[in-house]
Amino acid sequence: EHASISPSPHQANAHVLLVPLPIQGHVAPFMKLGHQLARHGSKVTFLTTEFIRAQIQMAGEEQEDITIISVPDGSALEDNHKDDYQLVQSFLHVLPGHLENLIRKANEAEPDSKITCLIVDLVFTRAPLEIAEKMGLKHAIFFPSAPGALAMMLHIPKLIEAGIIDADDGTAKKNELKIQLSPNLPALDGADFIWNVRPGNKSNFNQKATFQYLLLVNQILKVPNWVLCNWFHELDPSANALLPNIIKVGPLLANGKSIGNFWSEDLSCLPWLDRQSPGSVIYIAFGSSSRFSQQQFHELAFGLELIGKSFLWVVRSDFINGSSNEYPDGFLDRVTNLGKIVKWAPQEKVLAHPSIACYMTHCGWNSTMESISMGIPMLCWPYFGDQFLNKSCVCYSWKVGLEINPDENGLISRYEIKRKADELLCDEGIKANALKLKELAQNNASEGGSSKNFRDFVAQLML
Ligand code: UDP
Repeated sequence: EHASISPSPHQANAHVLLVPLPIQGHVAPFMKLGHQLARHGSKVTFLTTEFIRAQIQMAGEEQEDITIISVPDGSALEDNHKDDYQLVQSFLHVLPGHLENLIRKANEAEPDSKITCLIVDLVFTRAPLEIAEKMGLKHAIFFPSAPGALAMMLHIPKLIEAGIIDADDGTAKKNELKIQLSPNLPALDGADFIWNVRPGNKSNFNQKATFQYLLLVNQILKVPNWVLCNWFHELDPSANALLPNIIKVGPLLANGKSIGNFWSEDLSCLPWLDRQSPGSVIYIAFGSSSRFSQQQFHELAFGLELIGKSFLWVVRSDFINGSSNEYPDGFLDRVTNLGKIVKWAPQEKVLAHPSIACYMTHCGWNSTMESISMGIPMLCWPYFGDQFLNKSCVCYSWKVGLEINPDENGLISRYEIKRKADELLCDEGIKANALKLKELAQNNASEGGSSKNFRDFVAQLML
């Protein structure tokens, strides 16, 4: 019955179907992955929701070497107030019902270019992988986070068994805990757990649900033929031992293109950066979903004034929890000569610009890899999930950044912001480490680097 699914004798190329979760920090690296696979000889089809497909098209992007197909996202949340967690849940609910049909239809339309491999995001249901298996497709998971996050995820059952964390929501049972997951990772404590939500942040993610979801993912990670990871070997050589079938494809970069953005990039910041002196500008951006309280937003604005250096600040229109963005009285007038504010920046180009001195970041994994790849020291301000762990790796394993700490009420004060920025900007050791790591990242991004891994992977898809 499934014989028609196997590649026809005339099929010359692998054909990969990519399925990311419908959120910005996953869609963009999946698209970068897709472009790399296309460059290495695979045909690439990209499956996302109708809403996201329209959003990418509205952002003005052309994806020449990728075909995008879409399904309804299964929710009535298609507006700016969408809750990422619910969107993911409903997408995964509707996906299995569509997947098999979509694959059959694509194969009927192009019998000499049938889909040979399914690459899914880190999902908490086995259904997409089971469908691939049933249809005779090869399958892989793309893991869009750090080596430390994979280590932590795979260690969850052992941590529960050893009585170190609570089996229900993953809370650390002891306060003074230090866990060494690998010789290359810093000793971690409860604050580094990837199911964490910072107290005081009104995140849509709740800790128990996230922990239970990661428990399921832990099992699913062992199912696929391969696990593709957006990192390079030197970031954690011991990560090879975590799973037998890891393929390192990082750093995944857009290389001057605009890839997978939900919002159009405000390019006016590039000529503005051209007018600043080399190594003089602080870049501030917290990814696609971090939200601040009004009070924290004001503290950050005052902090930037106190630092008194040029800054480029990304303030998304939905950046403040529950209200429109209100700057402190007179702030915008006072900083006209100092700062530039945009709603969405061409981040990779910004980080590669010679005027950038450091990056105040939420430590999302994509942003962290981009900053590492451009050799930019980081001021770490994590918000939820793997960002706390990424922060600890940035500051204590790779030593390319400093952390900004909240006070006892969970607020990061303008004085803390100023202190850490001043400290980072004159830390020559951190600058040197960042440049060393950049060289390793660039070697891995070049022809001789992850290209070999891509070529081998694409060749295996045709076996
Ligand atoms: N990004 C961007 N412009 C911005 C802010 C972010 O292009 O103004 C991109 C950034 O380059 C990264 C992605 O959005 O590739 C954010 O992903 P990350 O994993 O860092 O964070 P998330 O959005 O998932 O929290």
